[in-house]
This record gives sequence, structure tokens and C-alpha cells, in this order.
Amino acid sequence: MTEKEFVAYIGPKATKDYQKHGILASITTAQACLESGYGTTELAKNANNFFGMKKILSNNTWKSVWDGKSIYTKKTKEEYTPGVISTITADFRKYSSVDLSIEDHSLYLTQAMNGNKLRYAGLAGCKDYHKAAQLIKNGGYATDSKYVDKLCSLIERWNLTQYDVEASKTVGYTNSPLVSVTVKSPNHSGKRTHKIDTITPHCVVGQLDAATIGHCFTSSSVQASCNYGIGKDGKVVLCVDEANRSWCTSSNSNDQRAVTIECACDKTSPYAFTETVYNKLIDLCVDICQRNGIKKLLWLGSKEKTLAYTPKSGEAVLTAHRWFANKACPGDWMYAREGDLAAKVTARLGGSVTPTPAPAQTTLYRVRKTWADEKSQIGAYESLDNAKKACPKGYSVFNEKGKAVYTNGAAPANKCPYQVKVKKDSVKIRKDAGKKYDIVGYITDKGIYTIIEEKNGFGRLKSGAGWIYLNYTTKI
Ligand SMILES: [Zn+2]
Repeated sequence: MTEKEFVAYIGPKATKDYQKHGILASITTAQACLESGYGTTELAKNANNFFGMKKILSNNTWKSVWDGKSIYTKKTKEEYTPGVISTITADFRKYSSVDLSIEDHSLYLTQAMNGNKLRYAGLAGCKDYHKAAQLIKNGGYATDSKYVDKLCSLIERWNLTQYDVEASKTVGYTNSPLVSVTVKSPNHSGKRTHKIDTITPHCVVGQLDAATIGHCFTSSSVQASCNYGIGKDGKVVLCVDEANRSWCTSSNSNDQRAVTIECACDKTSPYAFTETVYNKLIDLCVDICQRNGIKKLLWLGSKEKTLAYTPKSGEAVLTAHRWFANKACPGDWMYAREGDLAAKVTARLGGSVTPTPAPAQTTLYRVRKTWADEKSQIGAYESLDNAKKACPKGYSVFNEKGKAVYTNGAAPANKCPYQVKVKKDSVKIRKDAGKKYDIVGYITDKGIYTIIEEKNGFGRLKSGAGWIYLNYTTKI
């Protein structure tokens, strides 16, 4: 872990702790950086003790979450007399997790007594980190004479006040009124620790309806979720409350601040959306912005620029999953439209828009065997001419609504009669060439049969028994 990663790791935990115990997250994070050398000390590594918490502290006049017995013994340097460093051997607390270390530290700070007074009176609830640091020093926490300066400069260096998110501010979250289906996912981290200032559209890879997107994330073993999904039906599904941090973008810091949206799309590159889904994404982004006080949605065009930028009050940025993981998400279709999305949303919010070059058209022509057979898709083209050129025999070009606008003849028919071997254990024999016709029998021997006529993908059996679906057979 680099120093920066350590800060990003401890910060959100300190926020949770702040909301529970009232010790500023900036103070807790700075103390953890200082006391544990950004997680590198022997105590941090071997005992999950990030604050140098000793076995006995202030005569243990406080209620602890430490188990009371796990200890780690080591030598330590102390400055009892200013300027004089001495080495002593001491017993330290050993914790089973970082979270326990943070919580135990806060319990100590909020409860430890000095005679009949709180040792750090006024610290819980204190919102000024300079004052908080001084209260900690005054209570006798540290023997280092430069302790207050050290804490404050760490807070300023890492901008740690970003983690001082008060619980009351997280209460105001609402969910979108555009939601028409709710399929909750257990896969989330509870309350987000950062206000919403980011939106991350994703590709769910499949033209799924809203409810089906929701059901992708109901098992805890999936270890993934999203705040919302948008189905091919144009419906919005709620999977994780907006107040909570979803598991969507392979980045904790992104998902703490982002509303994540999984969108129905094609199964193959460029993972295009239908117009219905894209328009609903615009609607949903507008709604998210309105409810969260955002007047301007920005697309900065690259990971570097975006992550280096801190959204101002009233601003949000778009981010992309592909920046945080080795994934194509969102696909090239959506990624090429991030600027267009940001501009359209900002325009709807009444903000001024710097025009971004939007793709000329959002309509795509898909080349497939049938509209229903998504897997057969061999491409999606913005130009109808190009789609036609790419359309082989037996395939059609479909518009956004699934209507065939061009068909390149039927698949070349086989010269009858010919023989096939049945591939499936059980194949239905139908009265005529189509699924709607009655079943008159079954082939269950995976045998070899002679076909004397082809129609609609079905073959007529020489025996006169009826018709079978030829996809379940291999021509021999
Ligand atoms: Zn994704």
C-alpha cells in the first residue's frame, strides 16, 4: 500500500467511526498515518494496532472493544521529558481487524477519565480539527511536543477534511421516482461515506429487462451490484439504495461517491444500447442530479483529468468502469457518448453547456439471424449500407425496434434428400414445420435420419413421422 492508498483505505473507515463516536475522521486518519507510519509499523502489521494503543491506558477507566487478552510486546521510544527520548518495553493491544483498532481508539478518546473528569472533554463533536488536535495533546495522549503541528499538517497535506462527513448529511438521500421495479441486492457496503458527485454508467452485457438485471445481483456470492439498472424495456430497477455504496466499479473511492447504473446493451462489441435505454439513462441522470443538488454533469474525457479534478459544489462528473479494471465496460458505444450524455443532462438541468462533439446518430443497425437470436449478432453498424454489406446469407439487418429492414435471402438450402445425426437426447417431432405445430412424437436415440424437405429451419423425416428442428442435428 502506498501512503496515498493507505489514506484512501483508512479515510472511509474513519468517516463511519466519526458518525458513530463523534471524533473527526480527519483527526483519526491523521493519527493513524502518524502513529502507524502509514500502516508500516511492526504494531500495525502484526497486531492491527494503528494507534500504538497500550494494554493499559488511563488505568483502563473506559469501556473497550478490545478482547482484553490479546497483546503484542515490543520496545518503544517515549519522550517523557521534552527533548529526552528513552526506550522502554511495553505491552500493546492486538486486534483482529483495523476497524476494531479504530473503534477502540475512539472509545478511549471519548471515555477515558482523568480523576473524575473526561480526559479529552470536548473532543467528541468538536468540528475544528486544530482544536481537536490540541484537546488530544492537552489530555496527555502524546508525549511528542510537536504532536499538534504534525496532525494538522497531515490533515492539510492529504485534504483529510473530505472524510469529515456528518451522519446528518447522509440522511437526506432518496431514491429515484423513475424506479418501477425494485429487486434489492445484499451486495453493498451500507451508507456511503462521500456525498454523491459522480455518476458511472455501466454495460450489463445483454439486452435484459429491468427485473432480470435486478436478479443478476440478488445472490451474495455474486459480490457485485449497482444502484440502478435500466432494462431493454426502458424500465428502471432499484438494486441498492442511493444512500448506500454499491459494488459496481471495482473502486471503493469511486463507488462511495458515485451512483452506478447498469444498462441493457448488446452482448458483443461495441455493446450498443437501444435508443430507449439511452434516453432513459439521460432521464435518470437528470433526476439523480436534481435530487442531489447537482446543476452540471461533466465529462472530462480521461481518467487522469477526472481523478485529478474535485467537483465543485453543484457539479458531478462521469466516470468509467474501464478506468479501474481491465474491462471493456462501458463498451465503445457508450464510452463514445459520455460527452453527449453529460451535455444533454446539463442542458436539461438548465446549465450552460460547452458543446462536445456528439456522435452523429445514435441509431444502430444490427446484423443477426433473427431479432430474438442475440447470440447470432455479428455486428452493429451506424450506417445501414455497411450493415447490409456485412449481412451474410440467412441473416437480416434489424433497426432499433427489432424490425428487419433488410434480409439477405434464406440460408442456402441443402439439397434433399440428405442424412442428419441427431445431437440432442430428445428431439420433438412436429406435425408441420414450426414450433406452433403439435408434437407427434420424439426422437430419443441420437440416431441417423433422412431429411426429404426443408422449411423454416425444420426438416421432414423420410419416414413420414413429421418434422424436426434441424439445429438439433448435424448434417452428415
Ligand atoms: Zn461495469
